[in-house]
Amino acid sequence: MDKASQRSLFETEPDPWTLDSASEQRVAEIAFADPPHGPFSYKVPETLRAPLVAGQRVQVPLGKGNRGVIGYCLRVELKAVGSRPLKEVLAVVDPAPLLSPAMLRLAEWISSYYLCPLGQVLHAVLPAGVRGQAGTREMTFLSVPANVLAQLNSLQLPLKQLEALKTLAAAPRPLTPPELAAAAKCTLGPISELRKKKLIKGTVQRIQNVDVVESVIAREEHLNLNKDQQSALDVIIESLSKRQHRAVLMHGVTGSGKTEVYIRAIDEVLRFGRQAIVLVPEISLTPQTKQRFASRFGSVAVLHSHLSDAERHWHWQRIAKGEVQVVIGARSAIFAPTPQLGLIVIDEEHDHSFKQGESPRYHARDVAVQRAKAENVPLVLGSATPALESWQAAARGEFQLIEMPTRVSNRPLPDVATIDLRTEFQDRRSRGAISRPLHNAIEQAIAEDGQVILLLNRRGYSTHIQCPSCGYVANCPHCSIALTHHREGERIVCHYCDHQEQAPAKCPDCRFDGIRYSGLGTERLEAEVKARFQQVPVLRMDSDTMQKPGSHEQALAKFRAGEIKILLGTQMIAKGLDFPNVTLVGVVNADTALHFPDFRAAERTFQLVTQVAGRTGRGDKGGRVLVQTFSPEHFAIQAALQHDYVLFAQKELPVRLDHGYPPHTSLVRLIVRGDEEAITEAFAEQATERFRAALEQQKIPHRILGPAPCPLARLRGKYRFHSLLSSIDGPQLRQRVGLVAAALEPHAEVQWVLDVDPLDLL
Ligand code: ADP
Ligand code: ZN
Repeated sequence: MDKASQRSLFETEPDPWTLDSASEQRVAEIAFADPPHGPFSYKVPETLRAPLVAGQRVQVPLGKGNRGVIGYCLRVELKAVGSRPLKEVLAVVDPAPLLSPAMLRLAEWISSYYLCPLGQVLHAVLPAGVRGQAGTREMTFLSVPANVLAQLNSLQLPLKQLEALKTLAAAPRPLTPPELAAAAKCTLGPISELRKKKLIKGTVQRIQNVDVVESVIAREEHLNLNKDQQSALDVIIESLSKRQHRAVLMHGVTGSGKTEVYIRAIDEVLRFGRQAIVLVPEISLTPQTKQRFASRFGSVAVLHSHLSDAERHWHWQRIAKGEVQVVIGARSAIFAPTPQLGLIVIDEEHDHSFKQGESPRYHARDVAVQRAKAENVPLVLGSATPALESWQAAARGEFQLIEMPTRVSNRPLPDVATIDLRTEFQDRRSRGAISRPLHNAIEQAIAEDGQVILLLNRRGYSTHIQCPSCGYVANCPHCSIALTHHREGERIVCHYCDHQEQAPAKCPDCRFDGIRYSGLGTERLEAEVKARFQQVPVLRMDSDTMQKPGSHEQALAKFRAGEIKILLGTQMIAKGLDFPNVTLVGVVNADTALHFPDFRAAERTFQLVTQVAGRTGRGDKGGRVLVQTFSPEHFAIQAALQHDYVLFAQKELPVRLDHGYPPHTSLVRLIVRGDEEAITEAFAEQATERFRAALEQQKIPHRILGPAPCPLARLRGKYRFHSLLSSIDGPQLRQRVGLVAAALEPHAEVQWVLDVDPLDLL
């Protein structure tokens, strides 16, 4: 019997810290955030002071120059000494693992599903504030070693030193040098003398500097659930009490009381001593949301994007210690290190902000499914307009569907009517964005002391700048996109790269002085509304006016208090707001999203109109919705008029099937960008050919569109080409594409990425 198997007879757990032979060594696998990502094997030397386990970061030499680099330890194993000597780990960075074994496995899944290096995933899983230990500092704590304590009374020392030593020996806990100096009424001198004589031991510890003051919120009682809410809750509780994973898709119309169901389910989870994670779109991380949860639970952490690194680190530590019951945050909160997770909730699960736009390009919903399965806990997905991917998953039986078809307290859904802009355009007396019927409705709503929400999903003043004399169009010099005129500062701005110029009064090409500014943005809409309703307080809400931290909350607070009568803005105002006094919602142009070069254009339009319509009729006064459109007969708008998700899905799913698009297939998008158009295109063609050849060779059913210039053919000065690879066999598609991609040689002049399950096709 060889030595290794003999040992395994006697040892239940292999322990990499007991080395019993010169022929073996401890080997750590280390992955890196930056290329080369590894993982590479390193020897763990005996001389390393701290033990090393998976989930800790280490410093190791990398590359020819052996520069010291920080990497993530994936595992430590005992291995036979090979013929080639391994480089050695230089130091262990973290005193305790930052990543649990479960979190490492989740990261491995993300890495293999999203075709992204594991080191890069781990880098994204850990917040920057945690990696940098933000808001902490190192402090020395002094104590008296046991052997010194034993001879305390027989020591011959100068009086000051003896007093300091006795004070420390009597202290209930280790003290810092200044603390000891104060307690012993001496200077730091005697203390450092004692340390030199090794009569006092100093240990260095990292402690948290910040103490975030959390506001205290008054407790509120639970509401009495109605029948639909109760049956939804029962399904979740059943899964909780069986300790079984289950994914539940809660399709409930706007105002059906979904949040109340989440709250009660969380309540149940806390009774088992477990924690809950609630994901919401970033824009919903308002004090209103916090208030709703914090008034019901003892300890809630809200992870919004305005937190400092130190605050984020502070929350992370508390969560990891199990001190937080409910974590509420945007997509990255799915990585919250809750020690005993009991439930994951994703509100507005259709929202595109759950997908990360840079590597790792994960979708928090899919990560949540994996995490919930691995930790054997329920996952609740809620929406009035579920993503078709989720709807199909429910149809396949992967998600359990719960319907909540009515609003709470039997409130009716608002009446929705369209205003046909084609006829309005023909017999319009006044020019502008607001048609006569919409104008009249606003006037009436204000007269009856209601409030109004106006949606226009385009910011700026004018969205198109053209010279009628020579045809010049103001485009971004770095991107293939028109510049938008912003009145504020009289600038013309690129909404993609932020390039800015002074707004021209004359045509820069032919000097004609009648250059035309047209196309409607929120800034211009605001000017028009103010001109039409002069005494009425108006507020514009878009990413231009909401740049300062807290401005979003302040704006909503003013609207809630009734100081603002008309709130207008981009999709920001379509989400989650619950204001009972809103009696009119106007969609200024429902078609902005409809003609986007994206197969999800109809879905986005349906979601946006349905969601914004849901902001009215939440109080006793009722509410109505007017939708201005050039395509009132389009099924996405028709379905939104009737609040009919099922109708929408029935019309849209066959279209997707015809074109081979998700949710019937899985997609991988290759994006290639570079400074030279021809080189970039050539690389895109070569890469696409390799993918095609591999998929054909393996007989994997597939379809490839492209390569073609991206709809945004130039961005920040780079040319962009893309290909869309699709297959009904997602796992095979991803696996093959991943293998081919790993073998693609890097190219000095182009960069490329793969986007698995892309949402953004620009
Ligand atoms: P959704 O998340 O489905 O849009 P909400 O949970 O925001 O719906 O509920 C809409 C409104 O109805 C909220 O003001 C909420 O306080 C109230 N509400 C929810 N459930 C009940 C209930 N069972 N009884 C009375 N009011 C309720
Ligand atoms: Zn630009």
